[in-house]
Amino acid sequence: MISTLIIAGSVAGALAAVTAIVWAARQLRSSRSAVWVEETAAAPAPKAPSAPAVAVPVRETEVLERSKVIIHGLLLSVHESVESLVGEMSDYNNSLTAHKAAIKKAMTVAALQEVERLMIAEVDSMQRGTLRYRERLENAESTIRRQEEEMQRLNADATIDFLTRLPNRRTLDTRFSEEWARFKRYGGPFSVVMLDVDYFKRINDRLGHIAGDRILRAVAGVAQEQKRESDFLGRFGGEEFALLLPETPLKQAVAAAEKIRKKIEGSRFNYEGSAVTVTLSAGVAEAAKADRDAAALLARADAALYRAKEQGRNRVEAAPEA
Ligand code: GH3
Ligand code: MG
Ligand code: MG
Repeated sequence: MISTLIIAGSVAGALAAVTAIVWAARQLRSSRSAVWVEETAAAPAPKAPSAPAVAVPVRETEVLERSKVIIHGLLLSVHESVESLVGEMSDYNNSLTAHKAAIKKAMTVAALQEVERLMIAEVDSMQRGTLRYRERLENAESTIRRQEEEMQRLNADATIDFLTRLPNRRTLDTRFSEEWARFKRYGGPFSVVMLDVDYFKRINDRLGHIAGDRILRAVAGVAQEQKRESDFLGRFGGEEFALLLPETPLKQAVAAAEKIRKKIEGSRFNYEGSAVTVTLSAGVAEAAKADRDAAALLARADAALYRAKEQGRNRVEAAPEA
């Protein structure tokens, strides 16, 4: 009975692992970034935000299917083990009854010793069986754990931009929609900053794309360090980033953008022994009732960014009220 309980407990554990895997699968996103070079300064890995279920790309689907098949097989084998153990328990129960009768009937020490020998042999065999099942269950559990880890890795790949280690465009869009919905519902202040590295093409042209990649990653790292915990920074695309600032009015958002701009301006990005300086421009907009949708808010931040570029770059411009 104890063995049965151990196995039942492990089945519950396996089921919990399956639930975890299904959860991980739900978190899958479909975006993919190209492969880049190693970094000089990495941005800290962001927390994976929750997002609605989306179409799962081919590789994830394959892994998910494979995981399902493996786990299904494992659970079936666990089930068979439990069934077989229960069968053996019932056989053992029957032989106990037979032994009891034999003990009553046994008139000699030799007859009693024979019953005892049989009983010890049966207990030994039960113990060996239980050990075998335990081993099988442990193997099943470690396979399930490996599958779960693979799913988690895939999930991270699908939500984080490979080059900058920031949340990717898909994750950013999801978060933006969530913040926009919150603004629409509760109406608190909500601001958005669009950031764009100045003359980045020149850096690529002068130092090559590998240097450009490294510098972009370092810039992302600096920006990530400067932002507040409650703000959300993601790679919008190319050398552009978006910063979402919930519960933040325009003036404070401008100050946050200015802090990042200043820090980047003052940083020296080392590439093969030479110090490279970089600047960026930013456009800031605060969500307003007059904004038709999230895209309208983003367009205002983008227009402000355009003005910052026009007015000489390395500056922050605020969008006028909508
Ligand atoms: P501006 O100040 O007007 O923004 O000038 P810019 O050169 O930064 O802007 P432009 O849009 O002309 O060029 C952007 C450049 O950024 C061109 C593109 O090659 C580079 N870029 C975008 N993404 C990456 C990337 O992931 N790695 C590298 N190395 N370069 C990138
Ligand atoms: Mg750009
Ligand atoms: Mg640029």
